[in-house]
Amino acid sequence: MPVPCVAMEVTVVARYRKAVTYGIHALLAALEESGESCTLRYGTSPEETAGHIAAAAGTRVLVLWSFYSPDAAAMTAELAAVRALADGPDVLHIAGGVHATAEPQHVLDSGWDLAGIGEGESTIVSLVAALRADTPLRDVPGLALRDHDGVALRTRPAPQLPLDAHRSFPAVRRHVGPIELTRGCRYACRFCQTPFMFGGQFRHRSVESVRAHVRQMRVFGLKDVRFITPTSLSYGTPGPDADLAKVEELLSGVREELPDDGRIFFGSFPSEVRPEHVTPEAMVLLRRYVNNDNIIIGAQSGSDKILAASGRGHGAGPVRDAVRIAVEHGFRVNVDFMFGMPGEDAADQADSLRLAEDLVDLGARIHTHTFMPLPGTPWRDADPAFIPVQTMKRLDTLAQRGEAYGHWRKQAEHSARLAETARAYPRRTRRRRVEE
Ligand code: SF4
Repeated sequence: MPVPCVAMEVTVVARYRKAVTYGIHALLAALEESGESCTLRYGTSPEETAGHIAAAAGTRVLVLWSFYSPDAAAMTAELAAVRALADGPDVLHIAGGVHATAEPQHVLDSGWDLAGIGEGESTIVSLVAALRADTPLRDVPGLALRDHDGVALRTRPAPQLPLDAHRSFPAVRRHVGPIELTRGCRYACRFCQTPFMFGGQFRHRSVESVRAHVRQMRVFGLKDVRFITPTSLSYGTPGPDADLAKVEELLSGVREELPDDGRIFFGSFPSEVRPEHVTPEAMVLLRRYVNNDNIIIGAQSGSDKILAASGRGHGAGPVRDAVRIAVEHGFRVNVDFMFGMPGEDAADQADSLRLAEDLVDLGARIHTHTFMPLPGTPWRDADPAFIPVQTMKRLDTLAQRGEAYGHWRKQAEHSARLAETARAYPRRTRRRRVEE
């Protein structure tokens, strides 16, 4: 269903996939707030995307793509399929998100016309304005363009604005989703793309802005509120310690906006909590306000050596304490683990398996991951540790008993593919800027 806008000169076609809706929603919200004139269409499949491109002939067409690094190969194939179905000189395909930010040269070499670098809200608005005015794209912030010789040419950086500067989703019912509570992360876990993409400090959305989102949701009759944040109990604080007064101000404010049967989900999907923030006081507070019966705790390893090497900022002991406290306060607990981190040896894996099994005995479920050398992270070029068959069998046993879940075998395949890309695009690849 097209969303009508005032003018027809530019058609924006969002390749609308479930895995990336939150990021696309933020861009569409910025576009909507800006008042930039365009027609928006949503391609929920490659065929539908191509159909919208073909139907928009005679306008300038901007196709928005967003994907995570493990999906880069599949999306490259899909882009080629869409281009084969519909293309033209006025069609521009742009890929944004964390992979495009970290590997713009790879994105351009894979067939996209533009890579969106960094936070996309100001870029999309400027880009649509430039296409309408037919001004040079070199003046649009946060882009990489293909230079005359194919090298990625970067424009000036896009700003990292306070989170209140933009809404999390546009004022369209079908696009309402979790409210982005915090962007950026002060922790520096070496496997994680969040600090690279959004910066090494927290930017929290104000309570008033969150309440305004909830009021908007109520207009559509929606009563369930979820949040996006790297670490839920860091809300309102710049540092490592939780500020429970701030968290309560947030949750009580949301509760005031909701009807009696409204529900708050906090510390559960799509967010999590750090283990050292799980205290009896914090759990009592959550119990008072939230409706989720489960929380997600990031543990990653049972080896203090690996936790230190990965920069997690906590040891294995607080993980065990956190699970016990959360269970005692009536939460079902899912605990994230990652196997195969660089430098992990048999003893480290044994520590992780032992901790995982102990946590299962306490009542937790294990969400199992395999280390992936993600672009933009300090461990982009690191070799994943070998995961022997014995370790795999123990993980499979946990999964067969319903005590573990996750796509860790699939991630092992992604890991190998990412390592190949990293070798093909070494960090020393030349970076060219418009100012040169
Ligand atoms: S894993 Fe979580 S705590 Fe660590 S840097 Fe990423 S978002 Fe922050």
